[in-house]
Parts: sequence; structure tokens; C-alpha cells
Amino acid sequence: MPSILLTNDDGVDAPGIVALHRALGEIGDVLRVAPDRDQSGAGHALTLNSPLRIRQVGEDAHAVDGTPTDCVNLGIFQLLDRRPDLVVSGINPTPNLGDDITYSGTVSAALEGTLLGVPSFAISCDGGPGRVCFQQAAGVACEVARRILRDGLPGDMLLNVNVPREASRGFRVARQGRRIYTEGVVERIDPMGRLYYWIGGVAPEWRDDPSSDYAALKAGHVSLTPLRIDLTQESVLAELASRWEP
Ligand code: MN
Repeated sequence: MPSILLTNDDGVDAPGIVALHRALGEIGDVLRVAPDRDQSGAGHALTLNSPLRIRQVGEDAHAVDGTPTDCVNLGIFQLLDRRPDLVVSGINPTPNLGDDITYSGTVSAALEGTLLGVPSFAISCDGGPGRVCFQQAAGVACEVARRILRDGLPGDMLLNVNVPREASRGFRVARQGRRIYTEGVVERIDPMGRLYYWIGGVAPEWRDDPSSDYAALKAGHVSLTPLRIDLTQESVLAELASRWEP
């Protein structure tokens, strides 16, 4: 049986990861190592200034008082005897699309798996905490996992998978979309009369691009976006060098 490390950013007992654990258990030996609380929006953060504790919460489930990236490191270097064949992160209950993926703990956990040399994918679905949504996405995750375990992934990439709410029209390979940034901070007054702020209270809008992950999902496809590790903007390397280098 292949060895699969499973994590998420919603917490070790979130319904998405529980559904995914059950489904992946059919195709591999799954070890669940996930944050002990909701770490959505943690991005690729690594805990460096405090100790990390691991608490076993089930036969093959461990809670970590840290980030998704911490969990991948502890899973690979501490809890597993050998390097896993696959890292899977999710199922996030809301999509991870376009520019938003840089904030995503779900996607960042898969990024960490890739950096550590393990084929990895992140999976998110569109449709709130409903059980049906997670079951469909868990089925999709199994198919993706089977294919990666069989064929591998090209190096230096992770796969970002988003599953639509309605019955899927199949996979579509799509590029990372671009968000239209609007006012994203909500200002309120607390009961003591002091101002407070909440970031991200506004629903995202996306640039109209038929090749984007957003468009694929909206059209009812399961979007597959290959993400690169190297963020270098190749197209301006030469121009910058000609202007800045002596
Ligand atoms: Mn989340």
C-alpha cells in the first residue's frame, strides 16, 4: 500500500479531512497530521519561535499546535518511518482560486510537500460545510491520488484541485486566475466604543478569463492548476539586468 500523508488548514477534526481520510484509506496507508485548530489563512507560515506539541487523537491521526507547514514537516521527519509517496491537503470547504492561494494554508501544505520532494496536491470544494460536497470531492481526490501514484507528477510543481458544487463535468487544466481587489477591510465599533477591523469580509471578484481556474470551476469542471515553486518572473530577467547591473 502506498503511504499517504494527509493534512489540512481547517483542523484535524474538520469534516473535509475526515471525509478525505476515509476515502483515501481505500487506496493507501493514510497518516493524518493536521493543526489542532483552524489555521485557514496561515499561508506557508512555519513556527520558529515556540515549541511544537504533537497529540495523538486517533489510531492514525495526530493534532499539532502549529501550522499546516509544521504538520507536513512533523509528519515526514518525525511521525512516518519513511518518506510518504504522496502528500494530500484538504478538503478545504471553500475554493482556493487565483491570487488567493498565496494566503492558503491548504495549498501551502502541498507546496511544502513538494519542497520536501514528495508529489503533492491540494483539494478544495465549492459549497459550504455540506456532507454531499465533501463526498464528491473525496471521490475526486481518490482519482487524482491514484493517477499521481501511478504516473507521478513532473518535478517542481504541485497540483491545486478545486471541485465544483454541482455534479462535475470532468477535469479541466486551468491557469491561476487573477482577483480584482476591492475594498477588503471592514471597520466596526466594539461594545467598548473602540474601532476594530476585519480583513476579507468582501466576496472576491475575478477577472474574466476563460482559461482561469475560476472559469473552469464556474463552468462545472474540476479545475487542475499546476503551480510552480520558482516565483521568478523570467520574462523581465534580462531587461532588469540590463538596467540595474553595472
Ligand atoms: Mn481552510
